[in-house]
Amino acid sequence: MLENKTPSKTAISELGEFALIDHLTSSFNLKHKTSVLGIGDDAAVLKFGKDETLVSTDLLIEGVHFDLSYMPLKHLGYKAVVVNLSDIYAMNASPTQITVSIAVSNRFTLEAIEEFYQGISIACENYKVDLIGGDTTSSTSGLTISITALGSVSKKQISLRSGAQENDLLVVSGDLGGAYMGLQVLEREKAVFKVNPNSQPDLSGYSYSIERQLKPKARKDIIELLDELDIKPSAMIDISDGLSSEILHLSKASDVGFHLFEEKLPIDPEVIGICEEFKFNSTTAVLNGGEDYELLFTISQNDFEKIKNHPLLTVIGHAIDSKGGCQMINGIGHQIELTAQGWKSF
Ligand code: ADP
Ligand code: MG
Repeated sequence: MLENKTPSKTAISELGEFALIDHLTSSFNLKHKTSVLGIGDDAAVLKFGKDETLVSTDLLIEGVHFDLSYMPLKHLGYKAVVVNLSDIYAMNASPTQITVSIAVSNRFTLEAIEEFYQGISIACENYKVDLIGGDTTSSTSGLTISITALGSVSKKQISLRSGAQENDLLVVSGDLGGAYMGLQVLEREKAVFKVNPNSQPDLSGYSYSIERQLKPKARKDIIELLDELDIKPSAMIDISDGLSSEILHLSKASDVGFHLFEEKLPIDPEVIGICEEFKFNSTTAVLNGGEDYELLFTISQNDFEKIKNHPLLTVIGHAIDSKGGCQMINGIGHQIELTAQGWKSF
């Protein structure tokens, strides 16, 4: 007889994305010597020959990760590649190949999918990666994209999330919050258009932020710059979910805490203007907005002179003892504990 017991039902949202991944994968062991590092970093690390091979994969779903009412398909193809390459750069490595798999509904024409592949092609040219395979299938609704990126790096150059040491400086490339505020502008224009389909959106004055959202960059230039400056980050991650969530990942993997200084956060003036217009706190956009794809890394204090005043790099804090946790210090010296409010998929 089958037991008449109600099976337990746990909502996935009770765990959140990262606890869910831990829960599902913690019982898996690595069996091969070639699997140097499995789950838990921006990319897995494999070793088949002299150098390390990196692998990273991402899944993008229409309606969850992108909205085709304001995302042109060419941009989408470009962005889908770039976000994957960003995870390879976050290992201080160079991407070399990608695979692209798509599920498409009959709503899409050949011309539409061609446009999407034009974007993929431009990204392959810009970042010098080869498209080497994938899979194509039909879908009952919308478009689903899965891209895997491969890369390589020498063992001594690789930067994991786990190498940060107490007193290391916390550094970020570029500026933050733009992609999120760009999305707010696009969402607003979409809402206006729904009410009045004859309206022409006036997006002048928002171009930087919209470009951050629709055509992000993977920071190949920063990896090259660090190499020129002879700096190997002790730990590194890319910012896909918001600064707060990424600092917590570095903290957990490296077993250190962090002090982050609010006044140091790099924000573009246009982004500050949009925050004012939307009555949205710009620090919140930086901490919890996603998709900037900048690099967040730690370096030894001895390397400070090499990056001091560099226009592309900002020291925003430093690593402390893990007991101190992760705190943001505001202009009047108050400490605010960082929490992970990044993109919650569930
Ligand atoms: P990122 O934001 O850098 O793309 P994620 O947060 O997506 O990284 O993933 C964190 C880690 O968990 C990575 O090592 C990734 O490969 C792994 N991971 C995510 N989802 C799964 C899954 N369903 N099964 C196994 N590993 C997963
Ligand atoms: Mg990443």
